[in-house]
Amino acid sequence: GDDGAPTGVHAFLHVSADEALATAAEVDAIRTAGGAEAEALHPLAGVPIAVKDNIVTTGQPTTAASKMLEGWMSPYDATVVEKIRAAKLPILGKTNLDEFAMGGSTEYSAYGNTRNPWDPERVPGGSGGGSAAAVSAYMAPLALGSDTGGSIREPGAYTGTVGAKPTYGAVSRYGLIAMASSLDQIGPAARTVADTAALQELIGGHDPKDSTSLPQDLTGLLEAAESRDLTGLRVGVIAELQGEGYQESVQRIFKDNLDTLRAAGAEIVEVSCPHFRYALGAYYLIMPSEVSSNLAKFDGVRYGQRVVPEGGGTIEQVMSATRAAGFGDEVKRRIILGTYALSAGYYDAYYGSAQKVRTLVQQDFAAAFEQVDVLVSPASPRLPFRFGEQIDDPVTLYLNDVTTIPANLAGVPGIAVPSGVVDGLPVGVQFMAPATEDARMYRVAGALE
Ligand code: GLN
Repeated sequence: GDDGAPTGVHAFLHVSADEALATAAEVDAIRTAGGAEAEALHPLAGVPIAVKDNIVTTGQPTTAASKMLEGWMSPYDATVVEKIRAAKLPILGKTNLDEFAMGGSTEYSAYGNTRNPWDPERVPGGSGGGSAAAVSAYMAPLALGSDTGGSIREPGAYTGTVGAKPTYGAVSRYGLIAMASSLDQIGPAARTVADTAALQELIGGHDPKDSTSLPQDLTGLLEAAESRDLTGLRVGVIAELQGEGYQESVQRIFKDNLDTLRAAGAEIVEVSCPHFRYALGAYYLIMPSEVSSNLAKFDGVRYGQRVVPEGGGTIEQVMSATRAAGFGDEVKRRIILGTYALSAGYYDAYYGSAQKVRTLVQQDFAAAFEQVDVLVSPASPRLPFRFGEQIDDPVTLYLNDVTTIPANLAGVPGIAVPSGVVDGLPVGVQFMAPATEDARMYRVAGALE
Protein backbone atom coordinates (compact mmCIF):
# COMPACT_ATOMS: atom_id res chain seq x y z
CA GLY A 1 0.00 0.00 0.00
CA ASP A 2 0.93 3.69 -0.13
CA ASP A 3 1.99 3.66 3.52
CA GLY A 4 4.59 1.03 2.74
CA ALA A 5 2.77 -1.56 4.85
CA PRO A 6 2.90 -5.07 3.43
CA THR A 7 -0.11 -6.05 1.37
CA GLY A 8 -1.26 -9.48 0.27
CA VAL A 9 0.12 -12.57 1.95
CA HIS A 10 3.63 -11.10 2.42
CA ALA A 11 5.24 -14.54 2.53
CA PHE A 12 8.57 -13.31 1.13
CA LEU A 13 11.14 -10.88 2.48
CA HIS A 14 13.18 -11.18 -0.69
CA VAL A 15 12.19 -12.48 -4.13
CA SER A 16 14.94 -13.74 -6.41
CA ALA A 17 13.19 -13.91 -9.76
CA ASP A 18 16.42 -13.68 -11.76
CA GLU A 19 18.10 -16.62 -10.07
CA ALA A 20 14.91 -18.71 -10.15
CA LEU A 21 14.31 -18.07 -13.86
CA ALA A 22 17.94 -18.77 -14.73
CA THR A 23 17.90 -22.11 -12.91
CA ALA A 24 14.58 -23.05 -14.49
CA ALA A 25 15.93 -22.18 -17.96
CA GLU A 26 19.06 -24.22 -17.29
CA VAL A 27 17.00 -27.29 -16.31
CA ASP A 28 14.77 -26.77 -19.32
CA ALA A 29 17.78 -26.66 -21.66
CA ILE A 30 19.24 -29.85 -20.15
CA ARG A 31 15.91 -31.68 -20.49
CA THR A 32 15.48 -30.48 -24.07
CA ALA A 33 19.00 -31.57 -25.04
CA GLY A 34 18.38 -35.01 -23.51
CA GLY A 35 21.16 -37.55 -23.09
CA ALA A 36 23.22 -38.44 -20.05
CA GLU A 37 23.00 -35.01 -18.42
CA ALA A 38 19.20 -35.03 -18.62
CA GLU A 39 19.11 -38.58 -17.26
CA ALA A 40 21.26 -37.50 -14.34
CA LEU A 41 18.96 -34.64 -13.30
CA HIS A 42 17.53 -34.94 -9.80
CA PRO A 43 13.77 -35.79 -9.89
CA LEU A 44 13.10 -32.43 -8.18
CA ALA A 45 15.21 -30.41 -10.64
CA GLY A 46 13.22 -27.40 -11.83
CA VAL A 47 10.73 -27.54 -8.94
CA PRO A 48 10.76 -24.11 -7.27
CA ILE A 49 11.50 -23.79 -3.57
CA ALA A 50 11.23 -21.03 -0.95
CA VAL A 51 13.82 -20.74 1.82
CA LYS A 52 13.18 -19.46 5.35
CA ASP A 53 15.21 -16.33 5.90
CA ASN A 54 17.24 -17.73 8.80
CA ILE A 55 19.02 -20.13 6.41
CA VAL A 56 22.00 -18.48 4.78
CA THR A 57 22.32 -18.02 1.03
CA THR A 58 25.00 -16.43 -1.11
CA GLY A 59 23.67 -13.92 -3.62
CA GLN A 60 20.51 -13.27 -1.59
CA PRO A 61 20.22 -11.35 1.69
CA THR A 62 19.62 -13.19 4.95
CA THR A 63 17.96 -11.17 7.74
CA ALA A 64 16.34 -13.70 10.11
CA ALA A 65 13.56 -11.05 10.02
CA SER A 66 15.68 -8.86 12.31
CA LYS A 67 16.78 -5.24 11.92
CA MET A 68 20.08 -6.51 13.28
CA LEU A 69 20.88 -8.25 9.98
CA GLU A 70 19.21 -5.85 7.56
CA GLY A 71 21.05 -6.04 4.23
CA TRP A 72 23.47 -8.73 5.40
CA MET A 73 24.83 -11.10 2.73
CA SER A 74 26.25 -14.43 3.82
CA PRO A 75 29.66 -15.30 2.36
CA TYR A 76 28.66 -18.99 2.18
CA ASP A 77 25.66 -21.25 1.55
CA ALA A 78 23.99 -23.43 4.17
CA THR A 79 24.56 -27.12 3.41
CA VAL A 80 20.85 -27.54 2.58
CA VAL A 81 21.09 -24.63 0.13
CA GLU A 82 24.18 -26.16 -1.47
CA LYS A 83 22.18 -29.36 -1.94
CA ILE A 84 19.13 -27.69 -3.47
CA ARG A 85 21.33 -25.60 -5.77
CA ALA A 86 23.29 -28.70 -6.83
CA ALA A 87 19.99 -30.46 -7.61
CA LYS A 88 18.90 -27.37 -9.59
CA LEU A 89 15.77 -26.39 -7.69
CA PRO A 90 15.06 -22.74 -8.53
CA ILE A 91 15.19 -20.72 -5.28
CA LEU A 92 12.28 -18.27 -5.37
CA GLY A 93 13.46 -16.20 -2.43
CA LYS A 94 13.60 -15.90 1.34
CA THR A 95 10.51 -16.21 3.50
CA ASN A 96 9.28 -14.27 6.51
CA LEU A 97 9.53 -15.51 10.10
CA ASP A 98 9.35 -14.29 13.65
CA GLU A 99 12.62 -12.51 14.44
CA PHE A 100 15.40 -15.12 14.79
CA ALA A 101 12.62 -17.79 14.69
CA MET A 102 11.26 -16.77 18.09
CA GLY A 103 7.49 -16.78 17.99
CA GLY A 104 4.42 -18.55 16.73
CA SER A 105 2.63 -16.12 14.42
CA THR A 106 5.16 -13.99 12.39
CA GLU A 107 3.94 -11.01 14.44
CA TYR A 108 7.47 -10.72 15.85
CA SER A 109 9.03 -10.20 12.40
CA ALA A 110 10.75 -6.82 12.09
CA TYR A 111 9.35 -6.62 8.54
CA GLY A 112 5.59 -7.03 9.01
CA ASN A 113 3.20 -9.94 9.43
CA THR A 114 2.59 -12.74 6.98
CA ARG A 115 -1.13 -13.30 6.47
CA ASN A 116 -2.82 -16.69 6.51
CA PRO A 117 -3.93 -17.42 2.92
CA TRP A 118 -7.10 -19.05 4.33
CA ASP A 119 -8.14 -15.85 6.15
CA PRO A 120 -6.12 -12.63 5.89
CA GLU A 121 -7.24 -11.57 9.38
CA ARG A 122 -5.50 -14.59 10.90
CA VAL A 123 -1.90 -15.58 11.55
CA PRO A 124 -0.19 -18.28 9.45
CA GLY A 125 1.51 -19.67 12.55
CA GLY A 126 5.19 -19.31 13.23
CA SER A 127 7.93 -18.88 13.29
CA GLY A 128 8.00 -20.25 9.73
CA GLY A 129 4.75 -18.58 8.68
CA GLY A 130 6.29 -17.26 5.46
CA SER A 131 7.36 -20.67 4.17
CA ALA A 132 4.01 -22.26 5.09
CA ALA A 133 1.98 -19.41 3.59
CA ALA A 134 4.03 -19.54 0.36
CA VAL A 135 3.20 -23.24 0.01
CA SER A 136 -0.43 -22.78 1.07
CA ALA A 137 -1.00 -19.90 -1.39
CA TYR A 138 0.48 -21.91 -4.29
CA MET A 139 3.42 -19.51 -4.58
CA ALA A 140 5.91 -22.36 -4.03
CA PRO A 141 5.40 -26.14 -4.11
CA LEU A 142 8.27 -26.70 -1.68
CA ALA A 143 9.82 -24.74 1.17
CA LEU A 144 12.49 -25.05 3.83
CA GLY A 145 11.89 -24.22 7.47
CA SER A 146 13.51 -24.58 10.87
CA ASP A 147 11.87 -26.13 13.91
CA THR A 148 13.14 -25.45 17.44
CA GLY A 149 9.82 -25.91 19.22
CA GLY A 150 7.33 -26.33 16.38
CA SER A 151 8.15 -23.64 13.82
CA ILE A 152 7.67 -25.94 10.83
CA ARG A 153 4.76 -27.97 12.21
CA GLU A 154 2.57 -25.25 13.72
CA PRO A 155 2.54 -23.12 10.53
CA GLY A 156 1.82 -26.31 8.58
CA ALA A 157 -1.24 -26.96 10.72
CA TYR A 158 -2.43 -23.32 10.48
CA THR A 159 -2.14 -23.17 6.68
CA GLY A 160 -3.37 -26.63 5.66
CA THR A 161 0.07 -27.75 4.46
CA VAL A 162 2.53 -30.46 5.47
CA GLY A 163 5.59 -29.65 7.58
CA ALA A 164 8.11 -32.04 9.09
CA LYS A 165 10.80 -31.79 11.75
CA PRO A 166 13.24 -34.60 10.95
CA THR A 167 15.14 -36.55 13.60
CA TYR A 168 17.68 -34.24 15.24
CA GLY A 169 20.86 -34.57 13.20
CA ALA A 170 19.18 -36.01 10.09
CA VAL A 171 19.50 -32.71 8.21
CA SER A 172 22.58 -30.52 8.55
CA ARG A 173 22.19 -27.32 10.58
CA TYR A 174 25.31 -25.78 8.98
CA GLY A 175 24.23 -22.34 7.80
CA LEU A 176 21.09 -22.17 9.93
CA ILE A 177 21.28 -19.05 12.10
CA ALA A 178 21.23 -20.78 15.48
CA MET A 179 18.40 -20.15 17.90
CA ALA A 180 18.77 -23.02 20.41
CA SER A 181 21.30 -25.44 18.97
CA SER A 182 20.28 -28.55 20.91
CA LEU A 183 16.69 -28.15 19.65
CA ASP A 184 17.06 -26.55 16.18
CA GLN A 185 16.37 -28.70 13.12
CA ILE A 186 15.98 -27.70 9.47
CA GLY A 187 13.12 -29.49 7.73
CA PRO A 188 10.84 -29.61 4.68
CA ALA A 189 7.40 -28.16 3.96
CA ALA A 190 5.16 -29.00 0.99
CA ARG A 191 1.56 -29.60 -0.06
CA THR A 192 1.73 -33.39 0.18
CA VAL A 193 3.40 -35.90 2.47
CA ALA A 194 5.20 -37.47 -0.50
CA ASP A 195 6.67 -34.12 -1.60
CA THR A 196 7.75 -33.45 1.99
CA ALA A 197 9.47 -36.84 2.18
CA ALA A 198 11.19 -36.33 -1.19
CA LEU A 199 12.52 -32.96 -0.05
CA GLN A 200 13.84 -34.41 3.22
CA GLU A 201 15.67 -37.09 1.23
CA LEU A 202 17.30 -34.35 -0.85
CA ILE A 203 18.42 -32.13 2.05
CA GLY A 204 19.28 -34.90 4.52
CA GLY A 205 22.41 -36.91 5.13
CA HIS A 206 25.67 -36.67 7.04
CA ASP A 207 27.53 -33.38 6.97
CA PRO A 208 31.05 -33.13 8.41
CA LYS A 209 30.42 -29.39 8.93
CA ASP A 210 27.75 -30.13 11.57
CA SER A 211 29.14 -31.94 14.62
CA THR A 212 25.67 -33.17 15.61
CA SER A 213 24.95 -34.61 12.17
CA LEU A 214 23.96 -38.29 12.16
CA PRO A 215 26.49 -40.62 10.54
CA GLN A 216 23.90 -42.32 8.35
CA ASP A 217 21.43 -41.30 5.62
CA LEU A 218 17.76 -41.91 6.44
CA THR A 219 16.42 -43.59 3.33
CA GLY A 220 13.12 -44.93 2.01
CA LEU A 221 11.16 -41.84 3.09
CA LEU A 222 9.33 -41.26 -0.20
CA GLU A 223 8.55 -44.94 -0.61
CA ALA A 224 7.13 -45.02 2.93
CA ALA A 225 5.04 -41.90 2.29
CA GLU A 226 3.45 -43.59 -0.71
CA SER A 227 2.86 -47.05 0.81
CA ARG A 228 -0.62 -46.20 2.21
CA ASP A 229 -0.70 -49.38 4.24
CA LEU A 230 -1.09 -49.29 8.00
CA THR A 231 -1.88 -52.95 8.61
CA GLY A 232 -0.53 -53.96 12.00
CA LEU A 233 0.75 -50.50 12.88
CA ARG A 234 0.21 -49.54 16.53
CA VAL A 235 -0.60 -45.85 16.92
CA GLY A 236 -0.42 -44.34 20.41
CA VAL A 237 -2.73 -41.49 21.39
CA ILE A 238 -0.94 -39.39 24.00
CA ALA A 239 -3.30 -38.92 26.95
CA GLU A 240 -1.56 -35.70 28.01
CA LEU A 241 -1.89 -34.03 24.58
CA GLN A 242 -5.67 -33.84 24.36
CA GLY A 243 -8.73 -32.76 26.33
CA GLU A 244 -8.63 -29.64 28.47
CA GLY A 245 -7.10 -26.65 26.72
CA TYR A 246 -7.78 -28.07 23.25
CA GLN A 247 -10.47 -26.29 21.24
CA GLU A 248 -13.64 -28.32 20.80
CA SER A 249 -13.37 -28.29 17.00
CA VAL A 250 -9.77 -29.49 17.17
CA GLN A 251 -10.83 -32.39 19.41
CA ARG A 252 -13.68 -33.31 17.08
CA ILE A 253 -11.45 -33.47 13.99
CA PHE A 254 -8.86 -35.45 15.96
CA LYS A 255 -11.45 -38.15 16.81
CA ASP A 256 -12.36 -38.39 13.11
CA ASN A 257 -8.67 -38.78 12.26
CA LEU A 258 -8.36 -41.71 14.67
CA ASP A 259 -11.35 -43.38 12.97
CA THR A 260 -9.65 -42.94 9.59
CA LEU A 261 -6.45 -44.51 10.92
CA ARG A 262 -8.42 -47.44 12.34
CA ALA A 263 -10.15 -47.95 8.99
CA ALA A 264 -6.74 -48.02 7.30
CA GLY A 265 -5.71 -50.96 9.50
CA ALA A 266 -3.97 -49.23 12.42
CA GLU A 267 -4.52 -50.28 16.00
CA ILE A 268 -5.20 -47.25 18.23
CA VAL A 269 -3.88 -47.46 21.80
CA GLU A 270 -3.91 -44.81 24.52
CA VAL A 271 -0.49 -44.13 26.06
CA SER A 272 0.59 -41.86 28.88
CA CYS A 273 3.59 -39.53 28.83
CA PRO A 274 3.27 -38.10 32.33
CA HIS A 275 6.18 -35.65 32.11
CA PHE A 276 4.92 -33.92 28.97
CA ARG A 277 3.02 -31.51 31.24
CA TYR A 278 6.41 -30.08 32.31
CA ALA A 279 7.89 -30.01 28.79
CA LEU A 280 6.73 -26.48 27.98
CA GLY A 281 8.27 -25.11 31.17
CA ALA A 282 11.56 -26.91 30.49
CA TYR A 283 11.64 -25.66 26.88
CA TYR A 284 11.10 -22.05 27.93
CA LEU A 285 14.20 -22.31 30.15
CA ILE A 286 16.52 -24.40 27.93
CA MET A 287 15.66 -22.53 24.72
CA PRO A 288 16.28 -18.97 26.09
CA SER A 289 19.47 -20.18 27.81
CA GLU A 290 20.84 -21.30 24.46
CA VAL A 291 19.42 -18.18 22.77
CA SER A 292 21.29 -15.91 25.18
CA SER A 293 24.54 -17.63 24.24
CA ASN A 294 23.92 -17.97 20.49
CA LEU A 295 22.87 -14.34 20.05
CA ALA A 296 25.87 -12.91 21.89
CA LYS A 297 27.73 -12.64 18.58
CA PHE A 298 25.32 -9.98 17.30
CA ASP A 299 27.23 -7.10 18.86
CA GLY A 300 28.01 -4.85 15.90
CA VAL A 301 31.60 -6.09 15.84
CA ARG A 302 31.39 -9.76 14.92
CA TYR A 303 27.91 -9.63 13.40
CA GLY A 304 25.09 -7.13 13.10
CA GLN A 305 24.34 -3.64 11.92
CA ARG A 306 26.59 -1.44 14.10
CA VAL A 307 24.98 1.47 15.91
CA VAL A 308 27.33 4.09 17.33
CA PRO A 309 25.89 6.38 20.00
CA GLU A 310 25.72 10.12 19.23
CA GLY A 311 29.22 11.55 19.61
CA GLY A 312 30.86 8.09 19.75
CA GLY A 313 31.30 5.79 22.71
CA THR A 314 33.26 2.97 24.28
CA ILE A 315 33.10 -0.48 22.74
CA GLU A 316 30.60 -1.48 25.42
CA GLN A 317 28.40 1.49 24.57
CA VAL A 318 28.56 0.61 20.88
CA MET A 319 27.59 -3.01 21.56
CA SER A 320 24.81 -1.89 23.87
CA ALA A 321 23.42 0.63 21.36
CA THR A 322 23.67 -1.99 18.59
CA ARG A 323 21.72 -4.59 20.56
CA ALA A 324 19.18 -2.07 21.86
CA ALA A 325 18.37 -0.92 18.33
CA GLY A 326 18.80 -4.21 16.45
CA PHE A 327 16.77 -6.65 18.54
CA GLY A 328 12.99 -6.59 18.97
CA ASP A 329 11.21 -6.98 22.31
CA GLU A 330 10.67 -10.74 22.15
CA VAL A 331 14.32 -11.45 21.35
CA LYS A 332 15.39 -9.20 24.24
CA ARG A 333 12.90 -10.92 26.54
CA ARG A 334 14.41 -14.31 25.77
CA ILE A 335 18.03 -13.16 26.07
CA ILE A 336 17.26 -11.66 29.50
CA LEU A 337 15.38 -14.79 30.59
CA GLY A 338 18.21 -17.05 29.43
CA THR A 339 20.92 -14.95 31.02
CA TYR A 340 18.98 -15.06 34.29
CA ALA A 341 18.41 -18.83 34.13
CA LEU A 342 22.13 -19.42 33.56
CA SER A 343 23.43 -17.02 36.20
CA ALA A 344 25.42 -18.26 39.18
CA GLY A 345 23.13 -19.18 42.05
CA TYR A 346 20.15 -19.83 39.77
CA TYR A 347 21.74 -22.26 37.32
CA ASP A 348 20.82 -25.44 39.23
CA ALA A 349 17.32 -24.30 40.08
CA TYR A 350 16.39 -23.31 36.52
CA TYR A 351 18.65 -24.67 33.78
CA GLY A 352 19.63 -27.76 35.79
CA SER A 353 16.02 -28.64 36.64
CA ALA A 354 14.93 -28.09 33.06
CA GLN A 355 17.61 -30.49 31.82
CA LYS A 356 16.31 -33.13 34.25
CA VAL A 357 12.79 -32.65 32.88
CA ARG A 358 14.23 -33.03 29.39
CA THR A 359 15.60 -36.45 30.36
CA LEU A 360 12.22 -37.45 31.81
CA VAL A 361 10.47 -36.43 28.57
CA GLN A 362 12.97 -38.55 26.63
CA GLN A 363 12.21 -41.48 28.96
CA ASP A 364 8.47 -41.01 28.41
CA PHE A 365 9.05 -41.29 24.67
CA ALA A 366 11.19 -44.40 25.12
CA ALA A 367 8.51 -46.07 27.27
CA ALA A 368 5.74 -45.12 24.84
CA PHE A 369 7.68 -46.47 21.87
CA GLU A 370 7.94 -49.83 23.64
CA GLN A 371 4.15 -50.04 23.42
CA VAL A 372 3.45 -48.44 20.03
CA ASP A 373 5.12 -47.77 16.67
CA VAL A 374 4.15 -44.11 16.29
CA LEU A 375 2.49 -41.44 18.40
CA VAL A 376 -0.33 -39.13 17.36
CA SER A 377 -1.71 -35.85 18.71
CA PRO A 378 -3.41 -32.72 17.41
CA ALA A 379 -0.73 -30.60 15.70
CA SER A 380 -1.88 -27.54 17.66
CA PRO A 381 -4.36 -27.16 20.51
CA ARG A 382 -6.18 -24.48 18.54
CA LEU A 383 -7.18 -23.02 15.21
CA PRO A 384 -5.18 -20.13 13.68
CA PHE A 385 -5.91 -17.02 15.75
CA ARG A 386 -6.46 -13.41 14.76
CA PHE A 387 -3.66 -10.84 14.56
CA GLY A 388 -3.31 -9.04 17.86
CA GLU A 389 -5.29 -11.66 19.78
CA GLN A 390 -2.29 -13.07 21.66
CA ILE A 391 0.57 -10.68 21.00
CA ASP A 392 0.19 -8.78 24.29
CA ASP A 393 0.49 -11.95 26.32
CA PRO A 394 3.64 -13.93 25.49
CA VAL A 395 2.71 -16.76 27.85
CA THR A 396 -0.55 -17.42 25.96
CA LEU A 397 1.49 -17.57 22.76
CA TYR A 398 3.94 -19.98 24.40
CA LEU A 399 1.08 -22.32 25.39
CA ASN A 400 0.31 -23.00 21.71
CA ASP A 401 3.60 -24.93 21.54
CA VAL A 402 2.50 -27.61 24.01
CA THR A 403 1.98 -30.23 21.28
CA THR A 404 5.18 -29.66 19.31
CA ILE A 405 7.85 -29.07 21.98
CA PRO A 406 8.24 -32.65 23.31
CA ALA A 407 9.65 -33.86 19.96
CA ASN A 408 12.35 -31.16 20.03
CA LEU A 409 13.32 -31.96 23.63
CA ALA A 410 13.77 -35.63 22.69
CA GLY A 411 15.15 -35.17 19.16
CA VAL A 412 12.49 -37.43 17.63
CA PRO A 413 10.87 -36.71 14.25
CA GLY A 414 7.44 -35.08 14.04
CA ILE A 415 5.17 -34.11 11.16
CA ALA A 416 2.03 -32.00 10.85
CA VAL A 417 -0.47 -33.14 8.22
CA PRO A 418 -3.70 -31.37 7.18
CA SER A 419 -6.53 -33.40 8.70
CA GLY A 420 -9.73 -31.41 8.41
CA VAL A 421 -11.39 -28.02 8.00
CA VAL A 422 -13.57 -26.19 10.55
CA ASP A 423 -15.43 -22.97 9.67
CA GLY A 424 -13.16 -22.45 6.69
CA LEU A 425 -9.97 -22.94 8.71
CA PRO A 426 -7.53 -25.84 8.45
CA VAL A 427 -6.75 -28.29 11.27
CA GLY A 428 -3.67 -30.49 11.44
CA VAL A 429 -2.70 -33.74 13.09
CA GLN A 430 0.82 -34.58 14.30
CA PHE A 431 2.66 -37.90 14.11
CA MET A 432 5.90 -38.67 15.92
CA ALA A 433 8.23 -41.68 15.60
CA PRO A 434 11.37 -42.88 17.38
CA ALA A 435 14.64 -41.15 16.46
CA THR A 436 15.89 -42.16 12.97
CA GLU A 437 12.54 -43.83 12.18
CA ASP A 438 11.48 -40.93 9.95
CA ALA A 439 10.28 -43.42 7.30
CA ARG A 440 7.75 -44.81 9.78
CA MET A 441 6.49 -41.27 10.44
CA TYR A 442 6.05 -40.65 6.71
CA ARG A 443 4.28 -43.97 6.29
CA VAL A 444 1.52 -43.15 8.78
CA ALA A 445 1.31 -39.52 7.64
CA GLY A 446 0.95 -40.58 4.00
CA ALA A 447 -1.89 -42.93 4.84
CA LEU A 448 -3.94 -40.18 6.50
CA GLU A 449 -3.60 -37.76 3.59
N1 GLN B 1 6.87 -21.02 18.99
C1 GLN B 1 8.12 -21.55 19.44
C2 GLN B 1 8.93 -20.46 20.08
O1 GLN B 1 8.51 -19.36 20.04
C3 GLN B 1 8.81 -22.24 18.32
C4 GLN B 1 10.00 -21.56 17.74
C5 GLN B 1 10.70 -22.37 16.69
O2 GLN B 1 10.45 -23.56 16.50
N2 GLN B 1 11.66 -21.74 16.03
O3 GLN B 1 9.97 -20.69 20.63
